[in-house]
Amino acid sequence: MPEKNLALLTFGCQMNKYDSEKIAGILQKSGIRLTDDLDNADIVILNTCSIREKAEQKVYSQIGRLTPLKKKNSKLIIGVGGCVAQIQGEKILQRAPHVDLVFGTLNIYKLPHLIREVEEKGERIADIDNDYSEDNDLAPVKREGSIHAWLSIMHGCDNYCTYCVVPYTRGREKSRPKESILSEIRGLAEEGFKEVTLLGQNVNSYGRDTGEDIDFPDLLSIIDRVKGIKRIRFITSHPKDLSDKLIKVMADLPKVCEYLHLPIQAGSDRVLTDMNRGYTSGDYLKKIDRLKESIPEIALSTDIIIGFPGETDGDFEKTRDIVKKVCYDGIYLFKYSPRKETPAAIFSNQLSDTVKRARFEEILKLQKEITLKKNKELEGKVVEVLVEGEDKNANGKLIGRTRTNKIVNFSIDMPEDRKSLIGELVNVSILKSNLYSLEGILINIKGGGKYA
Ligand code: SF4
Repeated sequence: MPEKNLALLTFGCQMNKYDSEKIAGILQKSGIRLTDDLDNADIVILNTCSIREKAEQKVYSQIGRLTPLKKKNSKLIIGVGGCVAQIQGEKILQRAPHVDLVFGTLNIYKLPHLIREVEEKGERIADIDNDYSEDNDLAPVKREGSIHAWLSIMHGCDNYCTYCVVPYTRGREKSRPKESILSEIRGLAEEGFKEVTLLGQNVNSYGRDTGEDIDFPDLLSIIDRVKGIKRIRFITSHPKDLSDKLIKVMADLPKVCEYLHLPIQAGSDRVLTDMNRGYTSGDYLKKIDRLKESIPEIALSTDIIIGFPGETDGDFEKTRDIVKKVCYDGIYLFKYSPRKETPAAIFSNQLSDTVKRARFEEILKLQKEITLKKNKELEGKVVEVLVEGEDKNANGKLIGRTRTNKIVNFSIDMPEDRKSLIGELVNVSILKSNLYSLEGILINIKGGGKYA
């Protein structure tokens, strides 16, 4: 393929961002360069997300905004991928005559071939075949950073929560072979990456479909032995599948960080049943207690959906109680909005936006107070930070994360040395806490070094 420029527009969750790194990697290998300049692009790809309200309308208006570019350059190839593409398929080609290519979430590895077909045959193609192929996992990835990497360990989801489109957009659960995961992580370690986050819609059910005698805790134990990798994280965990074995492994393995994202979604058991979540608030709280007992320094975050159909004042009260009891370090809060393809979209007792907004603001305010209080407790303490880079907003400072996933900006005595610290584990004394970050000063490099 002669050298061309690719503009890649990404929307949505971490999984989508990772898919975009893959799109960029595989097309770059075919000689295509990334550009931020839409006017200078030969190929524009929209990697879409269906999680937000009115996602489809938003995608069609984003596609619409590309019309003038196509008018200016009739050879421009416009592709649409991601969850909305997976659901809409051919319909996008019918509604948007200037779109050339629609591809599904498991077909990224086919992109060079599909683009060639569009170029050479002038065909408009929709390929949303949802069969898993390992080729998708083996496709090259153009990573955004050089210290931390995302990588997928499984695809799809079998849980069918009544509000969620993922099982329809990303298909049934499919675990990636252990050797393929390990080989990618070893490669990352050789390239100098220090931290990996393992991605999956429900990592806790890893291995169930492989026919091999391996589960997620076993996988973590194997990855923990990879030389060069200093930290391991993972998202997302489903509460019903969080086992005692996993809690023990998290407590025992030195590289697995003391941080867990465990989506509760709602505090009321009736709402949890309507959501088809497969656990009660009591089950969830027991697991939280076990986590806190086994890993006292653990930081917890969660997802909460406010205003699920039929949520009463009493149900909402239970959600507020859970937030207070667990004392999360952070919450990802969503107002419920119906997705056409899901059962909850036709539940009769939908709530008004006014009610949802008021409840949303209440939990948000409560959580801000809790987060600030928890961050304040760190003032005066020394925390381990993996240095990710220079702080672009503060001259001479560095930025990194604690094992508990908190962002730390810190200064050092000799700012001229700051570049040599990138990728190191360092100890930082926390001087000040904010809502979304901590501020501190470097004490020493872990395991010695000239600051020790
Ligand atoms: S477990 Fe997560 S990804 Fe799977 S259906 Fe439920 S909300 Fe969606």
